[in-house]
Amino acid sequence: MNLRKTCTWALSALVVLPLFASANIDIHEAPSRPKNMIIMIGDGMGPAYTSAYRYYQNNPDTEEIEQTVFDRLLVGMASTYPARQSGYVTDSAASATALATGVKSYNGAISVDVDKRPLTTIMQMAKARGMATGVAVTAQVNHATPAAFLAHNESRRNYDAIAQSYLSSGADVILGGGQKYFPEDLLKQFSAKDYQHISQLSQLDSLTQGKALGLFAEVQLPWVIDQQDSTQLSLLTQKALELLSQNPNGFVLLVEGSLIDWAGHNNDIATAMAEMHGFANAIEVVEQYVRANPDTLMVVTADHNTGGLSIGANGEYAWDTALLKGIQASPASIAELAIAIDDWQPLVSQKLGFELKAEELQSLGNARMQGQVALDTALKQLIDNRSFTGWTTSGHTGVDVQVFAAGPAADLFKGNQDNTDIADKMISLLPRAKQTLEVISKDNK
Ligand SMILES: [Zn+2]
Repeated sequence: MNLRKTCTWALSALVVLPLFASANIDIHEAPSRPKNMIIMIGDGMGPAYTSAYRYYQNNPDTEEIEQTVFDRLLVGMASTYPARQSGYVTDSAASATALATGVKSYNGAISVDVDKRPLTTIMQMAKARGMATGVAVTAQVNHATPAAFLAHNESRRNYDAIAQSYLSSGADVILGGGQKYFPEDLLKQFSAKDYQHISQLSQLDSLTQGKALGLFAEVQLPWVIDQQDSTQLSLLTQKALELLSQNPNGFVLLVEGSLIDWAGHNNDIATAMAEMHGFANAIEVVEQYVRANPDTLMVVTADHNTGGLSIGANGEYAWDTALLKGIQASPASIAELAIAIDDWQPLVSQKLGFELKAEELQSLGNARMQGQVALDTALKQLIDNRSFTGWTTSGHTGVDVQVFAAGPAADLFKGNQDNTDIADKMISLLPRAKQTLEVISKDNK
């Protein structure tokens, strides 16, 4: 019975923690139940991404390899496989369902079980305890990961229905992209429920209290690499923390670096590393918040690995980060620009940040004649070849992902676990319910 399992987690959090409190990271040491919990998901962020990001960020002028926020906060690993009917490789919906409810379901499920019955989410449990809840993401706010925290649907593809169901989610803060899924009449219904609606990042300052629905793009937010600005998700995270922390009963916040996965699907290393930087910056914002508010737990993980990224390729013992760091725009946007002008070669070279060899220009020229998509693909292959980056798939892989944590009960997430365990542990740390809560439906686990 899972209730007993849940209680055991809570007990071990309170009893075992002082023994295992980390010596060098003081924010790990607070052996009490957290008032606030923040779960951060790097979509598609398998272990190769955090390793790659370490070298990408490394200062080549110093002898040492500098630690990243991921190195600082690493505590364990998690398996991600979905319900058995979907095999070993999960999608974002099944994994987010596991992380939001503690129950495995089929690929595509939005917090429903294998029989398509709704599962109680950690956000619903938090609401029932008078806590505030929110999401801050870089994809559309009704994309699979945030959807599994705020809605129930038999398919992640039912974007309009998911957006509609956010009205009854009770979420206090919803920040990200997705304007196209929130037509005027739906926005009016949100207003009627006291949500302030904004559509520009510059309007964030106007949100000082109460409920907020911020939709900053038609679908997903712009790529970090094309903005040359990695602060978007940090700003959303900061604002979500500011609004949610006004609730005296505490809060649960989901933050997602959504587009790491999209860059991984595209096998686009330059764009992926820039998205990693945006997510790392948001993690640092939360890390600062946890330092200033020792009653707050942060847990960071990935829902799965995307692309089968490899640091080193083609038999070479090398990975060229200097080359990657010099790239000024996504291959997709470079291709778009290069298609539109005749004198495309200097522009491509300038955006890539390195000189192109004659044979490289020739193959890019051939691709350009086939159109924008072919040129985009050729640019990505060129970058992979030059930087020694490898990929094995345009989809997901089933490798375990890392778990990072800080704050009270962070050590509970140490070692090897399943993604459903992460949810069970977080749920066990919620304050005791004031009245009889909905029983968590875990029969299918
Ligand atoms: Zn994906």
